[in-house]
Amino acid sequence: MTKEAIVKELVAQGKRLLDSSSAFHEFTGNADADALLNDLERFPHAFVIGCIMDRQVKAERAWIIPYEFARVLGDFSFATLSALSQARIYKLMTKPRSLHRFAEDMSRNFYDAIQLIGSNWGGDASRIWTNKPSSAQVVYRFLQFRGVGPKIATMAANILARNLKVPFSDYFSIDISVDVQVRRVFWRLGLSERNESIDSITYLARSLNPEFPGLLDSPAWNLGRNYCLETEPNCSKCPMSKKHLCPWPNRKLTDDTLAVAASVRDHRAGVKGKPAKRVVRKLKKRLS
Ligand code: SF4
Repeated sequence: MTKEAIVKELVAQGKRLLDSSSAFHEFTGNADADALLNDLERFPHAFVIGCIMDRQVKAERAWIIPYEFARVLGDFSFATLSALSQARIYKLMTKPRSLHRFAEDMSRNFYDAIQLIGSNWGGDASRIWTNKPSSAQVVYRFLQFRGVGPKIATMAANILARNLKVPFSDYFSIDISVDVQVRRVFWRLGLSERNESIDSITYLARSLNPEFPGLLDSPAWNLGRNYCLETEPNCSKCPMSKKHLCPWPNRKLTDDTLAVAASVRDHRAGVKGKPAKRVVRKLKKRLS
């Protein structure tokens, strides 16, 4: 197996998703919330707010916030949202329960986003991505929102292009969004070193697929989420292993790794109960 073959397979998986006819993305698993977020014609600001909330909490919890607001307010029209004060948004964000780990900061981000959509985009957030803009334009426009950094801005552009089939004139500036799954899969596939920085992996993805670096995002993330688990990678079921593309299952184990593996086996065989489980988990982490 070669790195070229691995990249070719990841790109092919990414292209299949990009070329699929389905223009729908499951953000939350809640049908009503997902319908709101996918309705870019009537509620484009819901997608923008969802992106802005997607920080430091589980994605599903962040993306359901527009729907939670709509439930209380009765709708999620831009007119309704633009009439809300920052204090009212904070109240909706925190009562009867906190919708976000950083409710205060996110309330400010929410409020500022509505103001910016009003002043820059005439209340129509879809103007951020309509008329086939370049990927750099879309990423730049998302970066104008308070609380949005390159990771969220490129994620937003990636979901619009890849999942919601919004046409762009190019895809050069849509980077990979590096998280723990992507980092682990890149390392085990032999594309990067262990614990490389976000910047380093971002540039690596640019070098591997310059026309659309973010195309590698979804295949790597799916492998990490479904097969390449942190402590027990399910290599026998993994498509990369079935195609003999991943070097990880055949890696040469060092003495240290073998010693840790033996300890895991000993603990499994000899000691039962919670403390033993914790030890096994810790030891296995050293193997991963
Ligand atoms: S073959 Fe194993 S190590 Fe390689 S990507 Fe799949 S699950 Fe991860």
